[in-house]
Amino acid sequence: MTPMKWFYSFLKKHTRRMIFGLVLVTFISVLAIVKPIVSGSIVDDVIMAGQYELLPGLIALLLMITILRGLLRYLSQVIFETCSQDVLYTMRDTVYRKLLQEDFNFYNKKRTGDLLSRQTGDMDAIRHFIAFVIYQVYEHVFIFLFALVMVFTVNVKLALCMCLVLPLAFLVTLSQKKNGRPCFQKIREQFSSLNTFVQENISGNRVVKAFSKEDYEIGKFNQENDGYRDAELAAAEIWTKYVPLFEFLSNLLTLILMLVGSIMVIQGEMTLGSYVTVNGYLWMLMNPLRQIGWRINDIQRFTTSVEKIYATYSEEPKVKRPANAIPCTRLRGDVEFRNVSYSADDEDIIHHVNFRVKSGQTVGILGSTGSGKSTIMNLLCRFYDVTDGEVLVDGRNVKDLDLYNLRQNIGMAMQDVFLFSDTIEGNIAYSRPDCPFEEVEKAAVMADADGFIRQMPEGYDTIVGERGVGLSGGQKQRISLARALLKDPSILILDDTTSAVDMETESYIQDQLRTLDRDCTIFVVAYRISSIKDSDLILVLNDGRIVEQGTHDELIKNNGYYATVFRHQYGEYEKYVRELNASGK
Ligand code: ATP
Ligand code: MG
Repeated sequence: MTPMKWFYSFLKKHTRRMIFGLVLVTFISVLAIVKPIVSGSIVDDVIMAGQYELLPGLIALLLMITILRGLLRYLSQVIFETCSQDVLYTMRDTVYRKLLQEDFNFYNKKRTGDLLSRQTGDMDAIRHFIAFVIYQVYEHVFIFLFALVMVFTVNVKLALCMCLVLPLAFLVTLSQKKNGRPCFQKIREQFSSLNTFVQENISGNRVVKAFSKEDYEIGKFNQENDGYRDAELAAAEIWTKYVPLFEFLSNLLTLILMLVGSIMVIQGEMTLGSYVTVNGYLWMLMNPLRQIGWRINDIQRFTTSVEKIYATYSEEPKVKRPANAIPCTRLRGDVEFRNVSYSADDEDIIHHVNFRVKSGQTVGILGSTGSGKSTIMNLLCRFYDVTDGEVLVDGRNVKDLDLYNLRQNIGMAMQDVFLFSDTIEGNIAYSRPDCPFEEVEKAAVMADADGFIRQMPEGYDTIVGERGVGLSGGQKQRISLARALLKDPSILILDDTTSAVDMETESYIQDQLRTLDRDCTIFVVAYRISSIKDSDLILVLNDGRIVEQGTHDELIKNNGYYATVFRHQYGEYEKYVRELNASGK
């Protein structure tokens, strides 16, 4: 599908209304054409022939035409404006739905500012096209052609002379179109880039402040601002070059009329009234010519925006919902990784991972930073698809399960906590907004969040700022944990969820997790041995590979990486206690 066909698929539902609007515009244009005829009649019949009794009638006719045109203009504009808003509403909705379907790969590569520009500035160019440009172009073409035909009916020779301007106008139009296109592409790119910069800087303003980089950022912003201004100016340079050309061509028409028309009147080939009539048509010929430059400008803005939106829209997610998905309302939570490998951008991230856990078991995952812990969890949720091997849940490949059902069964407290700007209750109840408050409270108690939430001025109704501003790191983690718990999942993933809470709170949370329904398989990704030592299975990752797996005791006996980490975290303390006892203090 081409971008224009895609655009038309939205507009076509409103074809009837649009055609009706254009019919009204046709009436408006035809009524405009009557004016010069009446003016000609006033000169020929009233002034020259002395039929003064015709004057009141002709004036009344002019008044009626003016009122009628006003009414029709109002009606047609309401039609085009509502059509444009309806098309935009559906288009925004469709694009937004598609954005929500996109996978992690898409968001990893796209800049938020770009996506925002598609939904704002680009959409507005489309609105302007439907609400204004379509009928303006139609009206101009119609009026121009109609006026030309009328001039032909008055005097063929004069009309032919005036037609000499047309090939010139055509050539100038082509030239403006060709030269303007790259400029509009550049404008959209610069606009997106400026948007991205502003969005990133506003989100990251705390980092900017912490590093006192305000001046540096202002410098960078100025570059972006300059870039956008220059792109707009480059486009303006094009139309400022072409608009006077069209102006010149339209004035050429006046020149032709004055020169050829006057000679014809003097030579008696045309009446003075006909001259006045043609003069009346003159603005109807000149005005469309003058407007061509502006409308090409609008049309190019529109086509560029449609192309940009469609390019984003048409990107298909790599992680797809299977056509014949196996229905799975409630999964048991058995998980198996069978020889799983994953690579992204030609980089091998996970290598031949194998492990198996039964429903209700707890799996601890330990490994150095960047060893692939979060990636393994992402593969389980199908945020990415494995490159090789299989991820099985309840013995079935996750690729065969319905994607949304699978994720509905997984509760995840992500490493990078994101809270919506909503109340704390709204954030915790994100998966089940209609659940009773007691359940929200129960989840908060389990995540040890209830205490600090109640101490807040408005308790559970406290609005959490964007990205959870106003809460400490550990508080955000606990709200995120409560949100995952409320889902009552078959598989619970805690990716570094207790890293920012103290040991006492962590131990409380672990005790609470033990009281969970035994059907829930829990994955705990952590650096602290204390977070995972009681797990049924511990996976130790290094460079995308499982280098050790077993229970705490087995791994300690194994005396590998896990035992080293254990000694680092506990060894010094035990030595200290021994020394303390030995010294008898
Ligand atoms: P940490 O303990 O710091 O959270 P981690 O063990 O969770 O680290 P991952 O986030 O799984 O590590 O990342 C493992 C490696 O894979 C990193 O080197 C990361 O840069 C890379 N990586 C992860 N996802 C992608 C991706 N989609 N595209 C490219 N590289 C990726
Ligand atoms: Mg991680």
